[in-house]
Parts: sequence; C-alpha cells; structure tokens
Amino acid sequence: MSRNPRYDILFEPVRIGPVTAPNRFYQTPYASGTGNQMPHTRAAIREVRAEGGWGVVNTGYCSIHPSSDDAPLPYCRLWDDEDVKVHALMVDAVHRHGALAGVELWHGGSGTGNRLTRMPLMSPSGVSTDSTYPGWISLTRSRPMDKQDIREFRRWHVDAAKRARSAGFDIVYIYAGMGFGPYQFLLPWLNKRTDEYGGSLQNRVRLMREIVEEMKEAIGRTCAVALRFSTDDLLKVPGETLESEAHEIISMLSDLPDLWDVKSSSWTLETRSARFSEQGAQEPWNSFVKPLTSRPVVGVGRFTSPDAMVSQIKRGILDLIGAARPSIADPFLPRKIDEGREDEIRECIGCNICVSSYHDGVPVRCTQNPTMGEEWRRRWHPERIPPGDPDTSVLIVGAGPAGLECARALGQRGFAVSVAEARDELGGRVSIESKLPGLATWARVRDYRTNLIQTMANVDIYLGSPLSAQDVIDFKCDHAVIATGAQWTRELTGSGGYPVGEIEGDAVFTPDDVLAGAKPEGPVVIYDFDHYYMGSCLAELLRQRGTEVTIVTPANAVSAWTFMSNELADIRLRMIELDIGTVFERYLTGFSDGAAQLTSIYRDSDVSSIDCASLVIVGIRTGNDRLFQELNSDTDRIVDAGICSVRNIGDCRAPGAIAHAVYSGHECARTIDAGDAIQPFALERPSLSFKA
Ligand code: ADP
Ligand code: SF4
Repeated sequence: MSRNPRYDILFEPVRIGPVTAPNRFYQTPYASGTGNQMPHTRAAIREVRAEGGWGVVNTGYCSIHPSSDDAPLPYCRLWDDEDVKVHALMVDAVHRHGALAGVELWHGGSGTGNRLTRMPLMSPSGVSTDSTYPGWISLTRSRPMDKQDIREFRRWHVDAAKRARSAGFDIVYIYAGMGFGPYQFLLPWLNKRTDEYGGSLQNRVRLMREIVEEMKEAIGRTCAVALRFSTDDLLKVPGETLESEAHEIISMLSDLPDLWDVKSSSWTLETRSARFSEQGAQEPWNSFVKPLTSRPVVGVGRFTSPDAMVSQIKRGILDLIGAARPSIADPFLPRKIDEGREDEIRECIGCNICVSSYHDGVPVRCTQNPTMGEEWRRRWHPERIPPGDPDTSVLIVGAGPAGLECARALGQRGFAVSVAEARDELGGRVSIESKLPGLATWARVRDYRTNLIQTMANVDIYLGSPLSAQDVIDFKCDHAVIATGAQWTRELTGSGGYPVGEIEGDAVFTPDDVLAGAKPEGPVVIYDFDHYYMGSCLAELLRQRGTEVTIVTPANAVSAWTFMSNELADIRLRMIELDIGTVFERYLTGFSDGAAQLTSIYRDSDVSSIDCASLVIVGIRTGNDRLFQELNSDTDRIVDAGICSVRNIGDCRAPGAIAHAVYSGHECARTIDAGDAIQPFALERPSLSFKA
C-alpha cells in the first residue's frame, strides 16, 4: 500500500534552526515515568517512536539543577556530566532511526517540591504557585530570588544545555510554562519584583529572553533552541499594543527561539480526557501564534486523524503535529499513514490511564498499547511479535478487551484461533460502556482489534455462542483461554473496607442492570465506592433521562480516583452543571422504606438517611470465573480432551480497568507456548561504580 497523496504535506521536512526534522510528526516532551533511574527503559520507549516514524522524539522534563527536584515523581536530570551518559543512551537510540532527539530542560521554581534535595524553593518574589495544594507541593513556601540567584539560574540553563549538546541532543528546550521557573517571571500575579526583572512586560520577559540568547550563544550553532510556552493565562491579560500579553510576548521574542512549542498552563487542561474534550481542543491556545513568528510552531491536540493533522497545517495553526498520547497509543502512527495503513492506527481513546501511571511514579502504561513500558524489560515491540506454530489451536471464550487483544496477537503470531462470544456483538464491556455519556472513543479498543482480526484467515469468530465447560472440551483445541469478564455486585463494605454482604431488593440495581436497560425510578441514590468513572457516568446517564440523582460516597469527591487521570475537576463541574446531588464521607448501611441509611465514615453514631425510590450500587466487581473453575478443577477431563493448558485472563481473572484486561490478553498471547504465564523481565540496576 502507498501513502494517500492528501497526506504528503505531513511528510515534508521542517527546518528548526540548525537542524531539520525529517517530517512534521513531533513527539512532544512527556514524562514516561522512567526518569534517570531507568535509562534503558526510557531509551527503548523513545527509540520505538523514532522507528515508528516520528521525526522528532523528545525526552520528558529534565531538571537542570538540584534546586529543581520533583521526587518522588520520576523526572530526568542533567545535573552533572555523569547524567550525560544516561541521556546519550536515548539519543543514540533515536538517531538510529533518523529522527531528531530533543530534551526539555526544566527548572520548576516554586512549582515543585524539592523533597529529595531539601533545598528551599525559589520564585521571582516569594509568591509560590499552588504552595499548599495537598499531594503536589511540599509544605515550604518559596524564597524570593536575588540578583545572584538570577545569574545562577541563567548559568544552570546554559550549563545543562551544554551537557545536552554533549549527550547528542539536536533540540534543547527552555520550559516556560505550566507554572514552572521562567514562566513564573512572566505572570504579574507571581512576579512582584520592582527591579528590571519585574513590573513592565518588557521586564518580566527579560529572564526568558536572556536564557534563550545565552543558550543560543552556547549551543545554537549545532542545536536548535526551543521555547515551550503556556499561553492560556496570559491570553487573559490585555496587552498594551496587541490583544493580550501572550500575543505581545510572542511578537517580542518572535524569531529568537528556533521553535515555539505552545500549550496550556495546566496539565489537566492540556491532557483533558476524551470524556471532556475533542481532538484539536488546544486550538484556542495556539492558533494565534504563527502570524507572530516565522519560526515553526508545534502544539498538541490528541491528534489521531491524519485529516485533522493536515487541516492544522493547511489552516496555518501548526507547522509540526505535536503528540504525546497518540504516540503512546501508537508509536507507529506516522509509518502507518506513510504506508496507507490508516485503518491500522491504534487510536488513543483519551482515557488518561497513561497520566495516572505517571502520577503513580511508574513507567507509563496505556489502555490501547500493552507494550508501552515493556519495550526494553520484556522486549515487547508494538508491531512485531515472534511467530507461533500454525498447527496449534487456541479457543478463546469471550470477546471483550482481553479476549480480543489475545485473539489479535495470537492471530498475528499465526496460531489457529477461534473466539466464541456469548453476545451478538464483539467488544464486551467496551461495547457497552462506550454508550455512556462521553465514552464513545472507548469503542476504539474494540474497533482497532476487530479491524485487524477481520483480515486474518487464521482467526474464526463465533458470535451468539455462550460456551459451557463441555462445549470447550468438545471443541478440541490445544489451549483454552477463558476471558469471560466480570460483573458488578450488590456487595456493601463496612468501615474497614471489608465486604459485609449483599443488599437485596427489587429497587436495588448494579451498573450491569442499568447498562442492560433497567430504568431505576427516581429519585435515585448512586452509592459509589468504586471511585472511578462508572458512578459519575451513570449519574449523567440517569440525569439525561430526567431522573433526580444523588451520589453518596465514602470519599470526599465524586469519582475520587480520577484525580489520577486528571478528570476530577471536570467531573465535579459536570455534576454541578447537571444538578446532581452529592453526599460525601458517608457509608451506606441499608435501604428500606424509601430511604437509604447512611453513617459518617468518622463516627458510627452519626447516622442520617436520604429519601430515594431506587439505589444503584457502584462498588465491587467479581470475575465471571465459573467456567474457568469448572475446567480447572477437572484436570483429567482436560488432559483426556488433549487440551495442554487452560488459562483465565482479563476481568475474569482479576477485575480491573480496561488497560489491565488488554495487557492480560496480550501477555497471554505472548506466553501461551512458553509453558508458564509468568515470565521474568529484565531489571534496571543502579551501577555501584559511582564516584562520590
Ligand atoms: P474483559 O474486560 O476481561 O475482556 P469483558 O466483560 O469486557 O471482559 O468481556 C467478557 C466477554 O465474555 C463478554 O462479551 C461476555 O459476553 C463474554 N462471555 C462471558 N461468558 C461467556 C461464555 N460462557 N461463553 C462465551 N462468551 C462469554
Ligand atoms: Fe491514550 Fe488512554 Fe493510552 Fe493514554 S492510556 S495514550 S489516553 S489510550
């Protein structure tokens, strides 16, 4: 297949200062959750993106000095020459595939914690960003920077830039966004200085200008100097001559940096989930930049459609198509467009599980791409997989995310695969849940896999086929994989979080009931102790039907876990807009006589009730593992039937997020002929040959 000429424009080279990007696909800096502690994992994550056709591949935020330390979050660093080696590993890996390698030099100012280095935070004038926001920032306030600090601050940038150059990087960033160091100087509400670095816009921009100039002087002949700049805050500040201060800053510095990387200042806004934003949603914050500079402009927008990318370029919004999540979900996205294989793109679903792994401080994982983070330690490649024996047959029972991914990967390996699905449609939970408000993109988990499976002659699908243990035995296969999913229960928990038994009643529902078409009579109480999306999505669904809804939860927020996926505030706002009631920090203990009984999570004696006609329990899921247990408990029958192995995967084995099910299906496909489902993986080990 060959490239659609409509997309030729995406493959034009773009000059960035002294270097040239081979095409317009630009993997923007994003934290991969590896930091300097996992250099091989990081190099392999970035290498596979370069191999997949991204013309520029950046590493994540990279601290320039111990006074900017983001521990325990995994950030990169370039503090001394020893750190250079770690980066060189990645740069060499990226260069092997003809891509440019970039590094986002970062000083957090007061927007970090310095928990590891214990150095006082620094800020332009002692006003800290979010200084008391729990969970993020340490308890210390920042100290104002004096002139000596400013000189040092500039020098740290230049020293780190020189180290970046010696590591081989082609593009070196200054990070003036997201509330970090240089950005704080730009904001009048954070910068209260009265010297030449504060006051007028000219003065507030001074530090950023000096750093760009000094970095260009130091490394500009061989490396491009990129400026990453958040525009949304300053778009709200009227300018003296132009529309806003954001306009003025860009026109003041205009062609000084070699590249403008523009974005919004809050990570939540920038990585809004698909539930709350469309592809290209960043346009209001970057569409004004290009007329103010002749340098190339890059921005993100969860772009997975080549037509949307072309439109950004033709309409003069961007020169380079920036991507973090689409490159996580499909490292080979550019290559697939180049080869006319657009329908094979593993499109990001915008669920933000990747974001949550970064918050967890571990290598980023992805719902759509189970190989993310496994490139080095397990040698899992997103496109290639070792061939299997075509004479070996595998029966997969259940075609949800786990069963489908297992079938797709086993099919790719060449096994003779059969998939039996009880329902008349494929996709399991994603087909059902993607009908919930805001979750339409989740169907991509099914569509990517079914598109590929359809082309595989060695994979047979049987819809409307609920299998019993005897059916599996009679089918005569070499391996049986049980992927029968999970179901929601009516189980409640007591104060220790332990199950205390199911709550019965005709007016008590589970999410499965509602998703299958049950219409609980209002007013409805949704008792949510699952804390992810289901409680608030069901509330939205019922509210759309005109039902009065109150969410009761032991947490202190609706969908409290979504703090991890950057969705918490958006969900709260949606609940307020839809007039959905909320009762926080209460357990539900019973439901009778048209009322739900509640107690405080702090004091058993503090009881209350809330009138409702129906109750929906969003709590515990349990695996549908009866079929697996039945087969597994009768080994003689299995052996007699010639079945070598019976495995259970996905939610049937351990209920979790869709990401876990996809991963489980993939792992099973990789290991089905290895004898043991649990395979060792390589470990990053600290070198003991350090110098103090
Ligand atoms: P997972 O997330 O682990 O893939 P899902 O719940 O999404 O799980 O999918 C499980 C699928 O298994 C559902 O589509 C369900 O209809 C199907 N299923 C459950 N039991 C059987 C069975 N006995 N035979 C065939 N299909 C089954
Ligand atoms: Fe996209 Fe979800 Fe993968 Fe993140 S985890 S890249 S949002 S599919």
